[in-house]
Amino acid sequence: MEILVKDIASQLECLAPIEYAESYDNVGLIVGSYDQKIKNILITLDLNEEVIVESINKKCNLIISFHPILFKPIKSLIGETLSERVIISAIRNSIAIYIIHTNLDSMWEGTHSYLSKLLKIHREGVLFPRKGILKKLTTYVPISYAKKVRNSLFNAGAGNISNYSQCSYNFDGVGTFMGNEKTKPFFGKKGMFHMEKETCINVIFPSHKLNIIKKTLFSSHPYEEVSYEIYNIENINPYLGIGIIGSISEKMNESDFLIYLKNIMNLSCLRHSPFTGREIKKIAMIAGSGSFGIEEAIKKKANVFISSDLKYHDFFKSENKILIVDIGHYESEKYTKYIVKSFLKKKFVHISIYESESDTNPVKYFY
Ligand SMILES: [Zn+2]
Repeated sequence: MEILVKDIASQLECLAPIEYAESYDNVGLIVGSYDQKIKNILITLDLNEEVIVESINKKCNLIISFHPILFKPIKSLIGETLSERVIISAIRNSIAIYIIHTNLDSMWEGTHSYLSKLLKIHREGVLFPRKGILKKLTTYVPISYAKKVRNSLFNAGAGNISNYSQCSYNFDGVGTFMGNEKTKPFFGKKGMFHMEKETCINVIFPSHKLNIIKKTLFSSHPYEEVSYEIYNIENINPYLGIGIIGSISEKMNESDFLIYLKNIMNLSCLRHSPFTGREIKKIAMIAGSGSFGIEEAIKKKANVFISSDLKYHDFFKSENKILIVDIGHYESEKYTKYIVKSFLKKKFVHISIYESESDTNPVKYFY
C-alpha cells in the first residue's frame, strides 16, 4: 500500500492540529511535497547534518522534527548556516521535513503526557489553558431532521465539554422562506412564501474541526440553502495549553524528589533553587524553555516547578514558596520522539518508523 506524505501529515494533524501551535512557531511540512511516497520515517528532536546522514542510512525519506530548523524567512540557500545546509541536503536526497512542535506541547496527549506517566503525576489540567479555540454553531433544521443533523454533528466532533459528550441546546420555532425561480426548496414551492417548524440546534466544537463540521452540516441538512451561524467563543479549555499541573500520590521530601526525578528521567545532573523545607506533592511542569511559568506555578500552589533554560535570576523567584528545578531543555523534551513514533506506529504498520539515535543535544556536561 502506497503511503504519501499527506497521509502522514493528516494523521499528525489529528495528534496535534497546526493551529494550536504558538504564533512564533513554524510547524507542518517545511520541505518536500505532500504527494511524495514514503519509504520509512525518522523522528528527531533536532535537525542537523548527522540526522540527515542517519536518515539516508535508514532509507527514510521523511524526517519528523520537534524543533523547527526554519524560524525566519531565508533570503538565500548557499549553505552558509546549519539550517541552510540541512535543507539543501534534504532536498538533494529527496527527504521531506515535517515539524510538530508547540502544537504537540498544547495537546493533552502531547509533550507532557508521557512525562506525566513516567513521573506518575496525576494531571489536573494544563498550567496555561488556551482560550479562543472553541467555536459555536447555531443552525435551524426541520423538526423531523433535527435528530439526524444533531447526531451527525456529534459524530464529527461537536458537543464535547470536558467529560461530557453530545452536549447541545435545542429549541423549536418557525422558519420562513421563499425561493425564487432558480430554487428547488425541500419544503414548499418556489415563488411561494413558506413557514416551517424548525429546531434551532446549538453546539460547540474545537476550532480545528471547522471544515469537517461545516461539511457534516451541509451533507446531513436537507435544505438546499442551509441557514447557520458560526461564532468564536472565549471559553477556556482546561485540557489544552502549555505545561501541566498535577500531583503525585505520595508526598516526598525535596531531596528524595530530586533523586526520583533524576533516576526516572535518566538525568546526569539538574539545577535547583534552595530547598523550602516543605514536602513535594503538587507539581507544575513545562517541557522546554519555561521560565515564564514560575509565577503561575506559585499561584497554583505547586510545591515544585520543573522546566529548563532557567536563568540565574529566575531561581530568585522561588522566595521559599516553591522548589524550582531546571532539568535541561533536551532532557525535558527527549520523549517527544517516542510520543510521535508510538502514535504513528498504530496507524501505519507497513513502514518502519525510527527514533533518531543521533545525540542532537548541543549542551554537554563536564564533571
Ligand atoms: Zn524545545
